[in-house]
Amino acid sequence: MTLVPYIPLLNAHFAHEPHWWPIHTPQRVYEVTLGMVLVQQTRWEAVEAAVLRILAAGYTSFAELAEADPQVIGELCKPCAFYLRKGVALVRLAGEVLAYPGQMAGILALPRAEARATLLALPQIGRESADTILLYGGSVPLFIVDAYARRFLARAGIYPQINVLTAPYDDVQRLVEADLALTDLHQARELHAMMVEICIHHCTANKPRCQQSGAVRKFVDARKCAEHCPPCAGCPVAAQCAYQQASGLV
Ligand code: SF4
Repeated sequence: MTLVPYIPLLNAHFAHEPHWWPIHTPQRVYEVTLGMVLVQQTRWEAVEAAVLRILAAGYTSFAELAEADPQVIGELCKPCAFYLRKGVALVRLAGEVLAYPGQMAGILALPRAEARATLLALPQIGRESADTILLYGGSVPLFIVDAYARRFLARAGIYPQINVLTAPYDDVQRLVEADLALTDLHQARELHAMMVEICIHHCTANKPRCQQSGAVRKFVDARKCAEHCPPCAGCPVAAQCAYQQASGLV
């Protein structure tokens, strides 16, 4: 089985969203990094609001953030979970980035494995966060193995040879990247966006909306569509989905 035939179906359903990852300043990787620390155990809507507050307060680069009072940054991170702890982590992370030769640009210029290992050594940066920074902050085409991707791949039954819900992160990543021969940055960014979108709107954790219109979601950023996922007839891959077939729904 392969993910390949699912991609055009997802693409057709979730039209390209230029501000899917909203960027407000020329400091793309800075904003992506902020988002990855803030999103831990937090809804994305709260993350977007906190990023805007941090930028509006004048902390628009790693250099400015490294000089900040962690308490002040923590307050700006409200209502993200653990906002005070995240404020401390962000200031510390910025300091460590500045101390690295070439700073974040220097890290992103490293070969993929080395860049990932360097990012993983930063505070509050795990595998998903490191890969997200490489994909959206840098230009490394890769597949992010987050909970959304695992859920979609498992329910759709695309890779029955492994248990994608429990298999090691790197095993799933290698499998998908080899399947897709993933080398195109735009395709890789769109693919992660679609894994997130399909799980938010249709392949929800409980009671997936296979035959129903997608759940609606509101965003803070005015450039994004106010309500994502317009009314539809159901999940765009329902006819191919193993979960649907096992349930006798198709
Ligand atoms: S058909 Fe249902 S279970 Fe299958 S991928 Fe779509 S929402 Fe998920």
